[in-house]
Amino acid sequence: MTGVQPYGVSGWQRDLPPASPQPPLGADTDAQVAIVGAGLAGLALAHALTRSVPPGDILVIEAGRAGDGATGRSTGIVGPGVGGPIAALVRKRGPAVARRMFGASVEGVAALRRLVKDLPDGCELSETYQLVAAQTPGHVARLREQAETLTGLGFDVRYLDRVQTADRLGVDRYHGALCYPDVVTINPWRLCQVLKESLLAAGVRIAEQTRVTGVRGGDPAQVLAGPVRVRARRVVLTTDGFTRAIGVHQKTLATIRTHVARTEVLPPELLARTGWNGDGAVIDSRSFFNYFRLTPERRLLFGGGPALLEERVTPARVAAVRERVARELAVVFPALAGVAIEDFWAGVTASTSDRMPIVGPVRGQPGVWFAGGWSGHGLAMSAYTAQTLPALLDSGLPGGEADLPWLRPAAGWAPTGRMGRLLLSGYLAGLDAADRLATR
Ligand SMILES: Cc1cc2nc3c(=O)[nH]c(=O)nc-3n(C[C@H](O)[C@H](O)[C@H](O)COP(=O)(O)OP(=O)(O)OC[C@H]3O[C@@H](n4cnc5c(N)ncnc54)[C@H](O)[C@@H]3O)c2cc1C
Repeated sequence: MTGVQPYGVSGWQRDLPPASPQPPLGADTDAQVAIVGAGLAGLALAHALTRSVPPGDILVIEAGRAGDGATGRSTGIVGPGVGGPIAALVRKRGPAVARRMFGASVEGVAALRRLVKDLPDGCELSETYQLVAAQTPGHVARLREQAETLTGLGFDVRYLDRVQTADRLGVDRYHGALCYPDVVTINPWRLCQVLKESLLAAGVRIAEQTRVTGVRGGDPAQVLAGPVRVRARRVVLTTDGFTRAIGVHQKTLATIRTHVARTEVLPPELLARTGWNGDGAVIDSRSFFNYFRLTPERRLLFGGGPALLEERVTPARVAAVRERVARELAVVFPALAGVAIEDFWAGVTASTSDRMPIVGPVRGQPGVWFAGGWSGHGLAMSAYTAQTLPALLDSGLPGGEADLPWLRPAAGWAPTGRMGRLLLSGYLAGLDAADRLATR
């Protein structure tokens, strides 16, 4: 299921209505490329495709309004990283592949920057840094290892010790931090609205409130939206956490719901009392980390709590997460214990068992491609993929040296189905328990 209601309205959405609402698809039609899903992955891909495909031959189909999915609900921190901890990637895949993988994610940040430069509105893009902050002394060694591995691979990162971290944050709470210096924050909902307007102005067709119910591979491939059919040379599904409902990657994508809170506007004197200078984006080192950043109007965006398996969400569980996020916010920033949380919302994303995306043709469905399963790194990787996918749609997946491991038709089995869901829920609960134990 997709749409605004079950997940709450994001603060971004409350601030700014959807741009130029588009009518649903009313009749069968043809396109050279049909993109299903108007989140960042779909919209940025459409934008990139306008360089090689006549805009009128590109059709974007969206179940709700552009940005309604995870993108317009995200925290808007665009930083590097993909596929899990870099030291583990080096051990598993070797330094050359690990370097290419991380390099692609760094390039994703640059791609997002370039994308925004192409638009008539800055989308609140701000140059900043990101700290991955050690929540316990035990996490210090792990972060140091990541920092050393990345430096060894030639990337610009730094490890900050406890004092340096406290200096940087103004809060003496963390035992050290890995610092990525090349990060941007954006207003992700605004980005979707501005991108949408810009695509419409270029002549790209966008159908909203059109739920795709299935796809059929072939030449041409077909998109089914109830009684309406779209025939296209290439169909690209950029539906991330909603893909299984279309009957694709049902056994390889786990759908996870995460939550975020947004406070009232913080008066400068109250922010000063927190000790935090408001710079940067921060994520702590637990599995279910807190992450936070300030918006340009000085609201604190603060996410966390355990991720919930989408199929096992109940109102009581959501209420418990909300309560926990508010509690954790007050622990990190005691001075903000009394501030109003004006918005609290959720979003759904897809993860794979190896924490790498899937970008490639869907098996058994000629002409149909999928790009998603970002496993926590959706914004930078969507931007990166948008710039590289158009060529692949023509040439097919590369092989050998040029290959990146997420260019693949499918990932390994992820625990889906009834038993799988129980297993995955147990796993998520175990990670949460381990976090709590480590931070006691
Ligand atoms: C609370 C939260 C905070 C996050 N913070 C960050 C962050 O700071 N940094 C970061 O990198 N990532 C973050 N993420 C993850 C990031 O938002 C996603 O990985 C990324 O936005 C995925 O983009 P997408 O375009 O692939 O998917 P989505 O944005 O989910 O877009 C998919 C679109 O497809 C549409 N759709 C679904 N089903 C159908 C259908 N059947 N027919 C037609 N259309 C359909 C949906 O309505 C949606 O608009 C966060 C996620 C959440 C939930």
